[in-house]
Amino acid sequence: RARLSRSNNLLGKGLLALLSSDKIDQDVWDEVEETLLLADLGSGPSQRLVEALQSRVRVEGTENPAAVKAMLREELLRIVGEDTDRSLNLDGEGNNPGVVLVVGVNGVGKTTTVGKLARVMVAEDKNLLLGAADTFRAAAADQLQTWGDRVGVDTVRSDKDGADPASVAFEAVKVGKERGVDTVMIDTAGRLQNKAGLMDQLGKIKRVVEKEAPVTEVLLVIDATTGQNGMIQAKVFSEVVQITGIVLTKLDGSAKGGIVVAIQEELGVPVKLIGLGEGPDDLAPFEPAAFVDALLD
Ligand code: GDP
Repeated sequence: RARLSRSNNLLGKGLLALLSSDKIDQDVWDEVEETLLLADLGSGPSQRLVEALQSRVRVEGTENPAAVKAMLREELLRIVGEDTDRSLNLDGEGNNPGVVLVVGVNGVGKTTTVGKLARVMVAEDKNLLLGAADTFRAAAADQLQTWGDRVGVDTVRSDKDGADPASVAFEAVKVGKERGVDTVMIDTAGRLQNKAGLMDQLGKIKRVVEKEAPVTEVLLVIDATTGQNGMIQAKVFSEVVQITGIVLTKLDGSAKGGIVVAIQEELGVPVKLIGLGEGPDDLAPFEPAAFVDALLD
């Protein structure tokens, strides 16, 4: 909570000042909308939020700044989804391990997220295996293996650069199945060169892997500091593969967390985890109420 609010308190201070104006007229609402935009909520969600607030202020007949802020909190929680199921489907069934695909563009924090999540699972006494299906970047498999070694989990990789990512993923799941692990977590390449290429690659990985075991979770990693760009990436990926959860990374930095609101409203895919740093313990479950409070306080 404390780590979140550092980057996010802009919204609360700005809004409270605005709402404290003598009269909440159209100019004030325009500025409220502007403030929401600056916090990365995106134009659609910002506009709809202001409309919802305007209508509540009218109906409930109050212009008390604290009351309006409380309404905003309620509306944000409604959009973000306070009761949404954010559980991770990591385990398989019967003889099959759960297969987790971690996808997203380069540099967003996929490999780091795999490492951190692996650490959480090891701490819960799970057996797991990592698969290095990012075969385009020479250092990617090394980086994943370093994480694996750090948390005590084996990594299946190819010894040659440019190997077929789908065959590495398949091999990882096959080995995982033979070993009877609970989960095989696969790090994928994130070259967003074009949608067709991405679709081919991710589609193939999923198809090939599912010959061995069902994919139980597809986590899309988004860098919160990229703001609305992250939203665009999310849309492209969700057209290519069915995303089951979002990991929003780098919320410890200069990110303005409003992107969560945009993602939840426009994609309807639950944000399940948040990244709060580069270290092994810097991964946390997404908690809507704490998050919205951090946005507003
Ligand atoms: P990938 O290309 O998507 O696999 O991204 P990496 O996992 O290699 O991460 C890219 C950079 O972002 C690395 O320097 C990571 O240490 C850093 N990083 C990842 N997650 C976070 C986070 O939650 N907070 C911060 N501050 N940095 C992060």
